[in-house]
This record gives sequence, structure tokens and C-alpha cells, in this order.
Amino acid sequence: MYDKMAEPYKIKMVERIRLIPREERERKIKEVGYNVFGLRGEDIFIDLLTDSGTGAMSDNQWAGIMLGDESYAGSRNFYNLENTVKDIIGYNYVVPTHQGRGAENVLFQILIKKGQYVLGNMHFDTTKAHIELKDGRAVNLIIEDAFDTQKEHPFKGNFDIEKLDRFIEEKGAENCAFILITVTCNSAGGQPVSMQNIKEVRKVADKYGLRVFFDAARFAENAYFIKQREEGYKDKSIPEIIKEMFSYGDGLTMSAKKDGIVNIGGMIAIKEDEELYNLVRQMLVPIEGFPTYGGLAGRDMEALARGLREVVDEAYLSARIGQVEYLGRRLQEAGIPIQKPVGGHAVFVDAKKLLPHIPYYQFPAQALCVELYKEAGVRAVEIGSFLLGRDPDTGEQIESPLELLRLTIPRRVYTNNHMDVVAEALINIAKRKEQMRGYEFEYEPKILRHFTARLKPVE
Ligand SMILES: *Cc1c(COP(=O)(O)O)cnc(C)c1O
Repeated sequence: MYDKMAEPYKIKMVERIRLIPREERERKIKEVGYNVFGLRGEDIFIDLLTDSGTGAMSDNQWAGIMLGDESYAGSRNFYNLENTVKDIIGYNYVVPTHQGRGAENVLFQILIKKGQYVLGNMHFDTTKAHIELKDGRAVNLIIEDAFDTQKEHPFKGNFDIEKLDRFIEEKGAENCAFILITVTCNSAGGQPVSMQNIKEVRKVADKYGLRVFFDAARFAENAYFIKQREEGYKDKSIPEIIKEMFSYGDGLTMSAKKDGIVNIGGMIAIKEDEELYNLVRQMLVPIEGFPTYGGLAGRDMEALARGLREVVDEAYLSARIGQVEYLGRRLQEAGIPIQKPVGGHAVFVDAKKLLPHIPYYQFPAQALCVELYKEAGVRAVEIGSFLLGRDPDTGEQIESPLELLRLTIPRRVYTNNHMDVVAEALINIAKRKEQMRGYEFEYEPKILRHFTARLKPVE
């Protein structure tokens, strides 16, 4: 019992963080136009912007860094990575990439013909962008329950199988490039996909002769949820569940910055299609690099190979997901509305429910984000209308169905004391929420505006 309650590691090295005084926080956030992307890392006390590339490597991974073989071709670290992927994922072929989007860029060029649909549960934003850059069309076919933050459902990342089947039937299989299962479903809040659902997706794919790929950034977290929540899996080991999950696919792209527990890296893996593997290797060279390094240093591949072995440890996953649940529970107990159930890597605060007096075009979740930084030096991120942007045809601000503040927890970085600070800060803010105001633009870039926009409080 006790091993479930504490992290299965101890701290060997620490990095200083500092809470700068409130007046300084207020000045700095104003200076950057009330946009947390403009803040410097050193001005942040607890950084929950993303779980991507922000994890802490183990002593074993750092030791691996010293064993980097920087041979241009045939680095021993590549072969270690290849063997690790064969072992854990069960796929024969691996090519490293500099990060997840590099993998998407290479694979999608090969797989997507102009105008074809790529069918996903809910595509991640770089995934959607790369589909569209190849003149494909990204389609989300997730279950409706995913959009209801208050509905408890164990697998909110699931495909709506009927919708999937109907879509292919209507559009014709020849107009569909492939099916992409994102585990866990990042854009739906780190919500898992059940084994049953993965199996059913495979069945539909077979019916129409389509291939199935995984967007596997958080594959181990998904396996942990299957073990916890799905009937028939509680006595299976995490590695067994992972093998079974991937057995229903033909290949994957992965951002290793998540469940690889490295600061940079990614890969494409292919189950057994040698022809596809050869095409990927050809395409890799001009874009990412020679197929035994693909944009990574030898040492990075070594750290990744070791990270993949560490992430499948159930004690680690239990502490990891337990910490996310802990933060969610603290907020829920205090009456702060959050997405339920909490996902694998983040807690989402429902700012539309918390701040009903701030309309969507004044960005309630962004207002909460700014306030949280001022309150406790915590950086979170808005996932709502500010992120969504304008209708490209009319120029009107689109109303996002959800206004969420994402508190994204890096892997092995913070303790539950840090989670307490975050929870208490939000609880304090909620007490004075009526005084909070929305924001409007001072400077609005045309493309991906949320990264560089400047805002000001509404008068
Ligand atoms: C992060 C992420 C990506 C993109 O990977 P990068 O390493 O950031 O390029 C793709 N898909 C999902 C689900 C992700 O979470």
C-alpha cells in the first residue's frame, strides 16, 4: 500500500526556483502584454505550461548521456533504441526524429494523397497542421462525452466507432489516408482510449482496408489507465498492455518529450511493412537526417532508450498519475470546477463555469491564467477562445466550446507541496473572482496569435 503513496525515486540533484515579489510579478506580466508565453523561465516559480520536454531525467539517463556514440552512421545508441522499441512496443522498424512533429512531417508526406482524410479521435494541433500541409483533411471522430467536462467517463479519448464507420462508408475508403489513434488524447485533456475501442478501430480499418497508426506521445499513461479502469486488465502488467495496444496498429509517430521522459526527441516506428520503412528512411535524410540519428545526437537516443524502459514502470506511473489526480482532487474539494475525470498529464479548470461574468471574447481562461501568475508565480496556459482565434473567412472571433485553464504537470519535477501551492492560489483567486476582468488585444498577430499577442485588461 505504502509504495503507491510515494514517488519510487529520491532526489539526487536540485534546481533552484524562486518566487519573485508580487510587485515584480505584476510588472513583468504587464510588460509582456499579459501573455505568459512572453515570461522568462527565471521569473516563474512553478511552471505548468506544458509537460513536453520538461521532465526530469534519471541518474541512469544522465549516465547514458556520457555513453553517447556520435558516429554519423551506425551509432550504438541507435541500435539500443531500436532494440528497446522492438522490446517494449513490438515494432520491427524505428527511425529517430528531432521531435514528434518531425515524425509527422516525414510519415505524412508518404501516406497522404491530396484531399484525403486522416481520421482521428482528436488530432493534436501540430498533427492537424502537418496533415493540412500535405493537402490532407484532419477529421475528429471522438465520442460526444469528451466535450462534456462534467460527465464522468473512464475513456473520454475513445473514437465514436459508428461515426468512424459511417464516415468511411460515405466518403469512400480510397479518400481516407489512414486512421490515427492519439493515446492519450492530448486535445481532449489527456483522456485515455480503451483497449476495446482500439480493437474496434482495428476492425473498422480491416473492413475498409485502411491502416492504423498511433500518435503515441503518452502511450504508457494510456496503458496505466487501461489497467486501472478497463475490465480484464487489472492483473496484466503494463508492458503486456502496451504490447497489446500496439499490436492493433501498423506503426506510430511519437513525441518522446512526453513518455520518453527526455527533453528533446521523437520517432517513427513501423510494425512490419518494410516497403514503408524504406520510404520513410529515404524521406528522412533530407528532412531530419541520416536514419540512424534522425536529428538527434547519439546521447539523446541513449537517454530516450533508457527513458522508455523507465516509463513503463507501474510504480512510476502510479506516482505520476497520482500526482495529477491529487491536484485535481484538491481543486474539486474546494469547489473549483475542473474537467472530470482528470487526465494523465494535466488538470483543466473550467474557466467558463468559474468566471461566468467574463464573455468568451474577453478570454476568461486567459484572465485566470494571468491572475494565477500574479498570485503565486505559477504559469499555466489558456486552452479556449484566445487559442482558437478568428474565423478565417469572416474575421470574427470564434467562440470556443470550452474555456479551459490547463495545469500541465511535468514528469518527476515537482512535489505535492508544489501542487498545494497551485491549488491554494486558485482557491484564493476564486474567492475574489467577481472582481476579475477580461482582456482585449493590444497587438494581435495574424498566425498562431496566442504565442506572441499582447493583451490589456478591459476597462
Ligand atoms: C506533443 C505532441 C505532438 C508533437 O510533438 P512535438 O515533440 O511537440 O513536436 C504530437 N502529438 C501529440 C499527441 C503530442 O502531445
